[in-house]
Parts: sequence; structure tokens; C-alpha cells
Amino acid sequence: MSELLPNHLGGRWQTGRGPGAALFDPVLGTELARVDNSGLDLREGFAFARDHGGAALRAMSYAQRAGLLAAVAKVLQAGRDAYYEISTANSGTVQRDSAIDIDGAIYTLGVYAKLGAALGEQRALLDEDVTGLSRDGGFGVQHVLVPSRGLALCINAFNFPSWGLWEKAAPALLSGVPVVVKPATATAWLTQRMVADVIAAGVLPPGALSVVCGSSAGLLDALEDFDSVGFTGSAHTASMIRSHAAVAARSVRVNVEADSLNAALLLPGQADAALELMAAEVVREMTVKSGQKCTAIRRVLVPESQRDALVQAITEGLRAVRVGNPRHAEVQMGSLVSREQKASVLDGMRALAAQSDVLWDGSAQSLLDADAERSCCVAPMLLGLPDAAAADAASLVHELEVFGPAATVLPYRDAAQALRLVRRGRGSLVVSLYGDDPRALGDTALELADAHGRVHVISPDVARSHTGHGNVMPQSLHGGPGRAGGGEELGGLRALRFHHRRCAVQASSAVLRTLRPE
Ligand code: NAP
Repeated sequence: MSELLPNHLGGRWQTGRGPGAALFDPVLGTELARVDNSGLDLREGFAFARDHGGAALRAMSYAQRAGLLAAVAKVLQAGRDAYYEISTANSGTVQRDSAIDIDGAIYTLGVYAKLGAALGEQRALLDEDVTGLSRDGGFGVQHVLVPSRGLALCINAFNFPSWGLWEKAAPALLSGVPVVVKPATATAWLTQRMVADVIAAGVLPPGALSVVCGSSAGLLDALEDFDSVGFTGSAHTASMIRSHAAVAARSVRVNVEADSLNAALLLPGQADAALELMAAEVVREMTVKSGQKCTAIRRVLVPESQRDALVQAITEGLRAVRVGNPRHAEVQMGSLVSREQKASVLDGMRALAAQSDVLWDGSAQSLLDADAERSCCVAPMLLGLPDAAAADAASLVHELEVFGPAATVLPYRDAAQALRLVRRGRGSLVVSLYGDDPRALGDTALELADAHGRVHVISPDVARSHTGHGNVMPQSLHGGPGRAGGGEELGGLRALRFHHRRCAVQASSAVLRTLRPE
């Protein structure tokens, strides 16, 4: 039997008492490790995090905590080679995809370390200026933001075991809030290993960072009034968390990043350059991490007159993508993370294909160095509706998120229909716009902004410098309204608000002056 990975809780390593759940190599099918947390005293562990980790972090200034993030980034930098190996073994990712998860995490920590250093020695944040409350101006109100005295329970999805941990942990730790991470079971190894390395390096105070692998049973019951939950995963689990008795009774803050049917829209009347940019982006989004990205393009909206040209350009791009064992030098796209995901993605592709045409099916090409049955490799599939009327009539494409390498082309007749089709996603993390008319692009961005966490606008002048439809930059908001969960993560210092409590201090001008940093 493979190694049972220990949990770090209550300031010590603890091994679950059960046999645990197995983690597999999704390409070779071999068992890699096991995770289990049965028998752990979650309440005691959570109390330790609050009382010891939280207290130690709050005793520091923002700049000092920023120094902790920089130290964590250094530890992770030193372990990169091992993390890449774990990622390939447990997530089936090629180097490029491992980098998004691993180097993306180190970059995010670095950005928050810099932002935190600039906050200096202050121990609270001021929320806008003093507002006078008396006629003589001597009495007023200053809103302050102070770190929450609870813990941040971070429940992550399987697709980003590294980035998902650190993009949540960086703002929490910088705020002075201890973190307990619960990785998705299928890919928990990388999260567990990174936490183990950081704990071993001794760069964080005891209790500041804990990891609980395996079942989620009992985690939410152990929450107290000032704790928070940062959740990434399915809408179904999100709704269970939101309606959990402990969450409701104790006013636990919940931030949700859930399913999202992200769209890409080529504006009407655009030249070929914009179409080419869109095709390249669609190919990238379908294949990076084998389409297992919450931000990936799922719906591709194009004027009817340009549908065939776009389909041809995307198909050419997909034809060049070799799928298979990520250890093979010529493979550009690895596998899905598990057999469950493979089954779910193939089911989803079949369901979409029943309501649309299959325009490209990569499964006709053989896998490189991987067994089609044993491995969880799934080739890209491009689907499409024939015309604007069919795009209006279709339903599933606006409802079903296939969490793999699939996207559907939707032709539209005019701008009004295009905007209507985008909105049928019921809110998403990101929409990308393609065109060369700045005014039309800006107007469309504002028109769609209410339903999206991010509008990514690609025009020929930024063809080489834009950061990518699906890339989540720590400087920009990540999250989305409606179906996307209604959450907000990252966005620079905005992310700290979730981990702070706002309080209105009403006092004399003399007292309020003492609240300002020296
Ligand atoms: P999931 O089943 O909801 O699992 C997500 C996490 O929740 C896992 O750690 C899971 O643990 C845990 N969990 C399951 N049941 C729970 C419960 N009752 N209470 C507390 N935690 C519980 O989602 P998934 O299928 O693994 O993830 C894929 C989905 O995540 C996709 O639909 C995708 O859209 C979404 N996603 C969203 C984003 C985003 O940023 N918006 C990013 C990535 C993925 P176990 O693994 O142990 O079950």
C-alpha cells in the first residue's frame, strides 16, 4: 500500500486512523499516496490555529507578514523540481500546465509580499477619510478595517492544488488570519507537500498554516463566529456549504468560486486580425490544463458571416495539438486528473454533441505514449451550431459546464443577440472581447461588466502583451456573479477586505487622529 500522507493540524503532524483514499497517476493508473483525516480532533486543531497562529500573525505589522509571504515563496522556489514531478504524476500535466499552477502560485505570493511591504508598520487599515458627525466638527467617524480573529478555511478544487492554496492563503496570511487548507482529494499530494516544506522550513508561526487532507466531514461543524470559508468547486457543493447549519448560525463569511460558462465574443464587423487572435485564444483555452480551468472559454460567439473562417482557424490549431503522456517531449496536452473526471467530461461532450455539430474531434488521432483505456487523456472536441437561429434555440450549451477540452461555436446575427447569448451563462468569471475598434470594445465591456468578474479585451495592439483570457492575475479581481458563485478573490489589496472586519469608530478628532499611521 502507498504512503499515508499526514495532516498538519494543532501545530503537529497527525496521521488519520483509517486506510484513507487513494491518489492515482491519471496517465499510468498507478497508486501514488493515500489521504485520511479520520480520528483528528478538528475543533482542537481549529482552536490552535485561531489562538496561536492568529495571535502570532496579528502581533506583526503588514510589512512583517509580507516578509513571511516572501519567505514562503523562497521555500517553494527551492522545491520547484519536486513539485513539477508531483504535478505530472498526480495531475497528468505537461510542464506548461504545471507552471501555471506552481509558478503562478509563487508569483502570486510575490505580488502580495510587495503589496504588503508597501503597507508598512500599520496594524489596521483605514477605510476612507473621517466624516464629521457634529456641527462643530469636533466629533466624527473613522471606519477602520482590522484583521478577523477567526481562521480562513480554504476548500479547494482539484485543478489547482498549488495556486488554489496560495492565492487564498496569501491575502489571508497578509491580513493576519491563519489558514486551514482542505485540498481536493484527487490531487491533494502537491498541496500537502508544499505545506510540509513550508512547515519544515519554520518560516511561519505555529498554527498559521494547517492542512487537512481527505474527507470534508466535520470541517464546517468546527467553524466559529469569526471564521471564513473560501471555497472553489462545484455549484452543488457551494450551495451545501452556504446552507450548512454552522455557517448560517454563526454568520460565517463564505466566498464562492463555482462553475462558469465563460464566453469569448468577436465583435461584429471586425477584420481578420481580430478573428485570428480569437482563434488562437480559443485553442489555448481548450487545451491548457486539458480545459480544466474555471476560467476556460466554453462558448465562442462569432458573427454568422465569419463562422466558417473561425471554425477553420480553430480546427487548424487543434489539429497540431498532440495529446498523451506528459512525460513525452512532443506531448502538448496531458490528461484529466481522474477517471471520474474523464467519465464526466466524456458524458458532457456526448450531451453537447446531441444538441450541436461536432466540428473537430481529436480522439480520431492516437494518443502519444498513453493507453486510451487506462489513461485519463481526453482529446479536444470543438462543437458548433450552424446558424444564429440554432444558437438561440440551443439550451444545454448555456447550462452545462464540461470541465475539459471542449468549446462550442455559436454564430450570432447582430450585437443584440450576441449580448443576449453571453448573458445566458447567468454570470461568469470572465468574458473576452475581440476587435479593433476601441470605442466599441469599451462600450461592450461596460455593457457586460455587471455579469462578469473580469472582461478581458484583446485587440491587435495588445496581441503580444495581453495576459490571456484564462490567466488569473493577482492584481485583477477573480470571481464572478450569479452562477459563478458571487465571490471575489485577489484584485490586489481588495482581497484583504474579506479577512478584515469593518468597524466605525466614532470619537473626537483627537482620538481619531491616533488611528492614522504615524
Ligand atoms: P467539488 O466536488 O465541489 O469539490 C471541491 C472541494 O470541495 C473539494 O476539496 C472537495 O473535497 C470539497 N467538498 C466536497 N464536498 C464537500 C462538502 N460537503 N463540504 C465541504 N467541502 C466539500 O468540485 P470538483 O468537482 O472537485 O471541482 C470541479 C468544479 O470546480 C468545476 O465545476 C469548476 O467549475 C469548479 N472550479 C471553479 C473555480 C473557480 O475559481 N471559480 C476553479 C476551479 C474549479 P473532495 O475532493 O475530498 O471531495
